[in-house]
Amino acid sequence: MPIDATLAYDDQNIFAKILRGEIPCNKVYEDEWALAFHDIAPQAPVHVLVVPKGAYVSWDDFAAKASAEEIAGFVRAIGHIARENGLVEPGYRVLANVGAHGGQEVPHLHVHLFGGRPLGPMIA
Ligand code: 5GP
Repeated sequence: MPIDATLAYDDQNIFAKILRGEIPCNKVYEDEWALAFHDIAPQAPVHVLVVPKGAYVSWDDFAAKASAEEIAGFVRAIGHIARENGLVEPGYRVLANVGAHGGQEVPHLHVHLFGGRPLGPMIA
């Protein structure tokens, strides 16, 4: 069920629990700014979720409130994961669903990183 991305952050969301180590994940990468793990229901041969360490509901919340250092660290982590997983050539897709119309289901910002096959055109 898509969320209302304007809601206050709820620290009981599933990705907050994964960040705290209360729920396991299949970890791909972790640094000061981000944790990345395989999606539980992959939509492509590579489907990694990258979440910031800070408590942000959505991309919109992150863009509005995160420090320049957090934003740089998070964006660099996404690029690092893509490179380390051999996605840069032939290419990949980065996607963040935001709120109800965006189809966001988990109320902690996450970026989807898809790759491993031709992904086709974007769907609207
Ligand atoms: P959204 O629609 O919010 O952009 O995407 C949420 C994603 O989180 C979905 O692709 C879904 O498969 C994934 N997901 C939901 N619960 C879990 C979980 O407990 N572990 C992992 N690894 N992925 C999850």
